Parts: sequence; C-alpha cells; structure tokens
Amino acid sequence: MIETMNGRNTGARYDVVVVGAGAAGLSAALLLGRAQRSVAVIDAGEPRNAPAAHMHGFLSRDGMPPAALLEAGRAEVARYGVRLLRGRVAEIEPGFSVRLEGGPVLGARRILVATGLRDELPGIAGVRERWGKDVLHCPYCHGHEVAGRPLAVLGTHPGAVHQALLLRQWSEDVVFLPHTLDLAAEERERLEAFGLRIVEGEIERLVVEGDRLRGVELAGGRVLPRAAVFLFPRMVPHDGLLTGLGCAMDDKGWVIADRTGRTGMPGVWAAGNVIDPRAQVITAAGMGSAAAFALNADLVDEDVRRAVERHRTSSPRTAGAGR
Ligand SMILES: Cc1cc2nc3c(=O)[nH]c(=O)nc-3n(C[C@H](O)[C@H](O)[C@H](O)COP(=O)(O)OP(=O)(O)OC[C@H]3O[C@@H](n4cnc5c(N)ncnc54)[C@H](O)[C@@H]3O)c2cc1C
Repeated sequence: MIETMNGRNTGARYDVVVVGAGAAGLSAALLLGRAQRSVAVIDAGEPRNAPAAHMHGFLSRDGMPPAALLEAGRAEVARYGVRLLRGRVAEIEPGFSVRLEGGPVLGARRILVATGLRDELPGIAGVRERWGKDVLHCPYCHGHEVAGRPLAVLGTHPGAVHQALLLRQWSEDVVFLPHTLDLAAEERERLEAFGLRIVEGEIERLVVEGDRLRGVELAGGRVLPRAAVFLFPRMVPHDGLLTGLGCAMDDKGWVIADRTGRTGMPGVWAAGNVIDPRAQVITAAGMGSAAAFALNADLVDEDVRRAVERHRTSSPRTAGAGR
C-alpha cells in the first residue's frame, strides 16, 4: 500500500505534504483527504513506539499492536486518495519543495511536519535490547501491565525522581537506583517518605534470561531481582526540517507552535511528538486533526483571496463600485 519513489522529480504539486505517518501525520491526512485536498504523506517507517508489542490508553484501541493501528490508519487515508510514500525527507525549501533522500522532489502549498522524536537511552548493557518490553518509561502506557510487581527506576536522568514518585502508585515495591545521579537531600526525603527504597551503587548491567528481565546488577555483583525497570530517556525531536525552514524554538529546545500546530513560518504546521514530548498516541492523533482543520482553513483563505483578485480583474466595474 505504501509506494516507493524511484524517479528524481515527480513534478507533482499537492495542497499539503505531510512528513511522517505516525498517529499525528495519518490523522491529519485523513481529515485533509476527506476535505477533498490533494495530499501526499511521506514516511520513513520508524514510529517511536515500534519496540512495544501493545499500545495502551487509546480509547477503543487499548492493547492493539502499534503497527496494527498504523496499518488501519493507512488503509483509511488511502480510501480518500491520499498518496502514501515510503522515504525520508531530507530538506524542505520555502515555497515549498520537498526533497526526499535519493532525489525525488514534491511541490506543496502547505507543509505538516509530524516526524516524532527519538529516545536517547543510557548506555547500560541490556537497556536497548529490552526497551519497550520490560525497560519502560511511561507508567500510563505500560504501568498497569507490571502493577504490583517488583520495579526499579534507574537514576539516569533528573526526571527519574518524579517518575519514581509517580510509579509508586502502581506498585508498593519500587526501588530507586540513583546510579550516577546526585540526589538532593529533599529528593531523598520525598522518595523515602513516599515508601520508595533507595539502593546506592553504580548499575553494571540488566540481567536478562530467556527473553525476560530478571534484575539489575550493581557494581560489585549484587543483583536486585526486578520484573521491570523504568527510565527517563533524553527525548530529541526530529525537528531538522522545521528549523531548516526557520521555525523558532523555545528556551527548552522545542519548536514553537500555537494550539493548532501553526509555527511562526507561514504555511508550516507541526503535530505530535516533534513539538510535544508529552503527546501520547491519542494526543498526537488529536494534534494532527487540529492542524488539518487550521491548515485547510488557511488554504480556503488563500483560494478566496485569489478568487476575489480574478473576479476583480474580469469585472473591473464591479471592483471599482465599492470604492
Ligand atoms: C517504547 C514506547 C512505548 C510507547 N507506548 C505507548 C502506549 O502504549 N500508548 C501511547 O499512547 N503512547 C505510547 N508511546 C508514545 C508514542 O510512541 C507516541 O505518543 C507516538 O508515537 C507519537 O506519534 P507521532 O505521530 O508524533 O510520532 P511517531 O509515531 O514517532 O511517527 C513519526 C513518523 O515520522 C517518520 N519520520 C521521521 N523523520 C522523517 C523524515 N525526515 N522523513 C519522513 N519520515 C520521517 C518516522 O519514521 C515515523 O514513522 C510509547 C513510546 C515508546 C518509546
């Protein structure tokens, strides 16, 4: 169902080119396709939650495999004539020319960037292999599945303390491993007062046996048996296309957009994790939908402006009458 592009310049010009076909991009494409717009969606095929077997918290789709949601989404948008292309966008030039890696170029009147983010994980042995399985970050997504079990939070990011306090709601047995994190006295007090156990020592590796996490090994060889561990990754937005177009960032390094995803650059919208690290799948889908509404209204404004100009040129007397 997804086309691969071979040619250099397709010559095609779309009302909207959407970059990224996760929940945000596909949701926008669905609305725009139904609004009779010509739309192309280009996707590199690496959605953020791909390592997880199940997606939770999406009303009516709770527990569905992430790939199944996207497959259903692609089938829905394809029904409305949206063109789905496999590829990676290398650059967008003002105006807009969307250049894919390998050469093909698409024209667009408006751009929606929904390219998500990447999770940078700490270099502890076992973390990458178990990511999305029993190494987790979001209790709302996967906390219920490990509720009541022995859990640990790895102190690899300043956000880990808050994460641990939150996680306590899912289990009475949560160990906080400061690892290399320098805990302030107040943080230590908050953790202990809330029933978390703090175990000092550098983390050596995760102990994995038979495709399951068994525990966390600390320097010196002590192994803490745990059913799952949580960590806070460093979230890095895939925002190079937006910054390349001149979109401004806030002081935390995220591209600034209004509630509809409109950036400071005319004609450029963004939705999902690329502008909001907190967006869950359902939120990202909502952001895509909101952006599509605003984007379409912007196109209508432009079409009306042009129609009025044409109208005035073709009937100069009417145009002058109001003056
Ligand atoms: C392990 C894990 C489990 C999760 N579980 C859940 C869960 O259970 N429930 C939940 O609600 N949320 C969950 N999340 C969060 C969820 O992944 C995000 O909310 C969601 O993916 C955001 O959607 P998005 O459309 O913004 O980005 P994505 O889904 O990441 O989609 C972005 C798409 O853009 C593509 N792309 C990027 N750059 C380019 C480019 N230059 N050219 C073309 N394409 C490009 C990517 O390849 C990708 O396909 C989880 C996250 C992780 C890490």
